[in-house]
Amino acid sequence: MAGKYQYHKHEDLSKRLICPRCAEFLTYADIEIFPACPYCDCRLERNPELEDFILQPLVERWANQYAPVTGRSRGRRDSI
Ligand SMILES: [Zn+2]
Repeated sequence: MAGKYQYHKHEDLSKRLICPRCAEFLTYADIEIFPACPYCDCRLERNPELEDFILQPLVERWANQYAPVTGRSRGRRDSI
């Protein structure tokens, strides 16, 4: 499963995209509006993989919201 981009798994389990040029960790928020590295200005090619990365927090939020309440099996966060 070799994708175009590499990721770093942060301790809070959110993925960070590793900039292919300067190797900084980017969060989805960094590239949500404009897909470029804020550190080195590297333009990131918008592809399905990148879309997935950007949408990941949204998807997780939905999943948490609609997941059946099954107790403590998942580290559920209290609602906002
Ligand atoms: Zn960069």
